[in-house]
Amino acid sequence: MKGTVYKSTGSWYTVKAENNKLYECRIKGKFRIQGIKSTNPVAVGDVVVFDPAEEEGRDTGIIKKILPRENYIIRRSVNLSKQTHIIAANIDQVFLLITLNNPPTLTTFIDRFLVTAEAYHVKAVLLFNKVDTYSIEELAEVKYLAELYRNIGYECIGISAKTGKNVDKVVAMMKDRTSMISGHSGTGKSTLVNAIEPSLDLKTAEISEQHQQGQHTTTFAEMFDLSFGARIIDTPGIKGFGVVDMEREEIGDYFPEFFERKQNCKFHNCLHIEEPKCAVKEALENDEIAWSRYKSYLQLMEGEESNYRIDQFQK
Ligand code: GDP
Ligand code: ZN
Repeated sequence: MKGTVYKSTGSWYTVKAENNKLYECRIKGKFRIQGIKSTNPVAVGDVVVFDPAEEEGRDTGIIKKILPRENYIIRRSVNLSKQTHIIAANIDQVFLLITLNNPPTLTTFIDRFLVTAEAYHVKAVLLFNKVDTYSIEELAEVKYLAELYRNIGYECIGISAKTGKNVDKVVAMMKDRTSMISGHSGTGKSTLVNAIEPSLDLKTAEISEQHQQGQHTTTFAEMFDLSFGARIIDTPGIKGFGVVDMEREEIGDYFPEFFERKQNCKFHNCLHIEEPKCAVKEALENDEIAWSRYKSYLQLMEGEESNYRIDQFQK
């Protein structure tokens, strides 16, 4: 039988079969996926093939196979620093809730998030929330940011989780898909989920740039069916949209507007920093690329050991 993993406790996996029945499944023997060193071989969102059985009146099963993943997000294992834990797999999209204030969401944060989503091959949608509270100036700022990110190719919607403005658009995008909702604490994740499905009580975690070291996370991600035919993955206690270890050379590839210009740089391995005849720097000078994006790029490139100074490039 074929089904999707909705929940995992580490040793048991709740699999929803195509007949909508739930099966408590286990894995037999060593089960390793090539290329991934993770503490859990099967994750929420995985599509699996299993042999059903009945044990003490319960529907159970043995997982035989995991179908290839579209994508997956990970975090570092708390105890085994070299190992990773797969948080979830096969995510269609992640919504990032953004507020200008209470709390402020910085563009460097948005850009880091988008880079992570690109690296994971997860589609990201930006939701500018609390538009009911903004002044004319703030609304202009939302408009500016939405246009900036739309030009790069990201969908942007101004919403109010409180008044319900444009929540129908979010619902329409969620239909028939598996989504995650992220954003700083206080940006309105719970309020949005409540507006979408009042009976659902998610514990959507704040996303943060902190790594997981020293943090004990005993909770697991879980998937929920919504009444209008959508799935939501909740990641309680998991801070961060995962972690990706990126090489400096690949960071630019996760800025779509840089990547599409890279072929016009003089050097094929151009890092768009100090090289001559760089198409990205040219586009930046012509205001075709936003300075805020370039600043975020330099911050990511800086890492720990870089010598490049951000203020050198600030306009
Ligand atoms: P979470 O931490 O991301 O889950 O944020 P909450 O959903 O708990 O929202 C934080 C606060 O912002 C609460 O007081 C909400 O009532 C408020 N809030 C959320 N969305 C909106 C909105 O669209 N407009 C207004 N005015 N307040 C909102
Ligand atoms: Zn370049």
